Formats: sequence, structure tokens, C-alpha cells
Amino acid sequence: MTKSPRRAANDLTLMLNAVLGENRFDRGPVDVEALALEYTRNTAGAHGEYIERIVADDLDGCEGALVPGETKPRRWGIIYDRRQNRGRRAYTVAHELGHFMVHRHLVDEDPDFDGGFRCSKDAVEHGSGKDIEKEANEFAATLLMPLDDFRRIIPANELADLERLGRAAQRYGVSLTAAALRWLSYTTTRAMLISSTEGYAHWAKPSEAALKSGRFIRTRNEMYEMPASSLAVRRVRGDEALTGVRQAAGVWFPESVVEMCMRTDRYDFELTLLHFDGKGPAYQALSARSWDFGQVEERCGNIVSLIDECFAGE
Ligand SMILES: [Zn+2]
Repeated sequence: MTKSPRRAANDLTLMLNAVLGENRFDRGPVDVEALALEYTRNTAGAHGEYIERIVADDLDGCEGALVPGETKPRRWGIIYDRRQNRGRRAYTVAHELGHFMVHRHLVDEDPDFDGGFRCSKDAVEHGSGKDIEKEANEFAATLLMPLDDFRRIIPANELADLERLGRAAQRYGVSLTAAALRWLSYTTTRAMLISSTEGYAHWAKPSEAALKSGRFIRTRNEMYEMPASSLAVRRVRGDEALTGVRQAAGVWFPESVVEMCMRTDRYDFELTLLHFDGKGPAYQALSARSWDFGQVEERCGNIVSLIDECFAGE
């Protein structure tokens, strides 16, 4: 029986902790390419399938792929787009390893996956592809950023600014966006991450506590215009933007927030982090009831590949 993506990644995490020690991240991120090659070969066992090679190539409109060989037992290859930087590449290879661990049986069961898994934005959005793309992303995040370690460096009840999240991104060898999204998935504080270009948000992800207090931004089927006095629109940069400024009630929401912003001119793209005070009024949970948190996750999964490379390695 196939394991869940989280279970499959947690089993690998326990194995790595046993071999390399619980403080392994003090010495560096997961070497996901070595892991994909060695672990799958050493554990091939009765089914005999493993990942034989990982190669860079020019992939058009495609971040990465997991491709089966013709002979059986199958040998598999991971291909990643060579234009990705190191942080994005680690995430892509971990994503493809997730497909190998959890989904490879689909190649023999579902004609849609005849040629293996090609992970482009379109593939993520395409019908039956949706769930498996989300699962492969969950596998990658769980493997590269185990929650027990992440909670040690940023406890769940503490707010994290961009600098702190940047240090986490370095620790795990991933992009700032990937680290920030992982932090948002477990923090009990009220916070929100927003990606925008030229004054309009691509997506916005609230922490669960922020969502439950009614703090969310709809971006799925409508354009969200960033507030005129936001750091992103005013193009404020430097220390002030990175350490945070307090915005009055009414700028973003009917309560004041601390806002941080990091932008890249190369892609004309900004990442905004909002911190809310306290836990927020409980009665507002009613207004969040119709909001589908899964949609937010899915949207983030779709777009994270586009923006990850904007920040990693800077
Ligand atoms: Zn995929």
C-alpha cells in the first residue's frame, strides 16, 4: 500500500536523523540529489525500481520531470530545468522524488501518466494532476524543512520577520518563499504572506490563526489591488522595509498591522509579510467559514515555482 506523502517524507527524516544526528541541519541542508539516488537504490528491494540519474536540461514551460525507463523493473530519471538556482533545484528534485515515492505506480495504471510526470504550471492545473502536484509539494516541504527542526529555530508562538525567515531558508537550502510558506503552515501567530507585482497581488496566504480571525485576501478570481500606502506600492526598500513598519487600521484591514516587504527589481516582484497583533477577535471566525483554505494552498503550490527563484540565493 502506498504511503501518504507526509508519512513517506517523515520516514526519510527519521532515517536521516538516525544516520546524521538530530542536529544535522546545523551542518547543512538535505542533500536531496544524493538521497534520491542512494536511498531509492538501497531500498529498491523486491520491486527493483529506483532513480538511476538526475540531469539538468533545457525544459520549456516545465520545472522538472520524473521519467520512467522502458525496461522492467523500471529505472527512473529526474530532469530539472537548468536555469533554476540551487534553492529551487533542491525543491524540484525533492518534488520529483515525492512522485517516485508516492505516485510512480500511476505510470502503469493511468494513460495520463504514460511518459511519467512533467511538472509545469499547466500540469499542476490540469485535471487529475492537481492532487498529485499538491502531494508532491507536501512531500518536498516535509523532507526539506522538517517541522520538529523548524519549530526549534522558530517556535510556533513566535513571529518571524523576513530576516529570521531568510536564515531558515539558508538552513534548509530553499527559497525565502518556500521557507515562509512552511512557517505559515504551523505558526499559531496571526500573519500573512502576499506576492505582488506592480501593485497587484498574485496570491496571499494567511496563517490558520489569521484566517480564523477573518484575515484573508481573495486573489483567485479577482484582482486585488495593494493598498496605496503599502511598502510594495511605495517601493520602500532597505532596513525599514525589511524590519517592518506599523500601518494604521484601515490600510490593510480594520486593525493595525506590522508590514515588511522585500522586492527584486530583476523580476519586478515583491513579497510582503504582515504581522497582526494578538490572537484576534474570535467572533470574526464566522466570516471565514466560507473560505476554502485548501484553495489557498493549491494556489500557492501553483505559483510558488514561478517566484521561488526570485529570492533564493540572493
Ligand atoms: Zn509534479
